[in-house]
Amino acid sequence: MPTIVSGSTPALRYLQGYPTDTLAQVEKLLQEDRVAEWLLAKYPLAHTVRTDRALFDYVQALKAEYLRSAEPLSKVAFDAKLHIIKNALGTHTAVSRVQGNKLKAKREIRIATLFKTVPDEFLRMITVHELAHLKERAHDKAFYSLCKHMEPRYHQLEFDVRVYLTHLEAAGTSLWATSMDAVV
Ligand SMILES: [Zn+2]
Repeated sequence: MPTIVSGSTPALRYLQGYPTDTLAQVEKLLQEDRVAEWLLAKYPLAHTVRTDRALFDYVQALKAEYLRSAEPLSKVAFDAKLHIIKNALGTHTAVSRVQGNKLKAKREIRIATLFKTVPDEFLRMITVHELAHLKERAHDKAFYSLCKHMEPRYHQLEFDVRVYLTHLEAAGTSLWATSMDAVV
């Protein structure tokens, strides 16, 4: 059982900006230790994307469907070094490399390893988020409408991912890891 520090409520830092009644509901679930149950009822199964190669294909398929004209991706990888708290929603970098005498911009997408053991919906959310950054740098209106175009449930999924991150921070247990035969 998770240890709740007495007298303090778990930090809701991943959920800043959501309406207070929504936060109150999450806080109630946390206090009753029912977040895991709530998430598992909604998302019973983990996805099956186990390797960086499989992740590349997964991301590439979504890109081909919605962002064919965006710059090509040179690398897609799960990254264990991405800090779970600071960078859990992934990073997107434009890496400049000298090729011959030309400077070529290459796009890389790194996704925190915690997304290896999540439902497909969560992997899709983070992929859509990082792909949208190929076109829109800032988290602004244009960015989120592109996310919604690629995944109509985007806002709900991002919220649910943030609830899961809150759970991880409070309880520390991966909810879907045991449904996998091996973590690659
Ligand atoms: Zn972002």
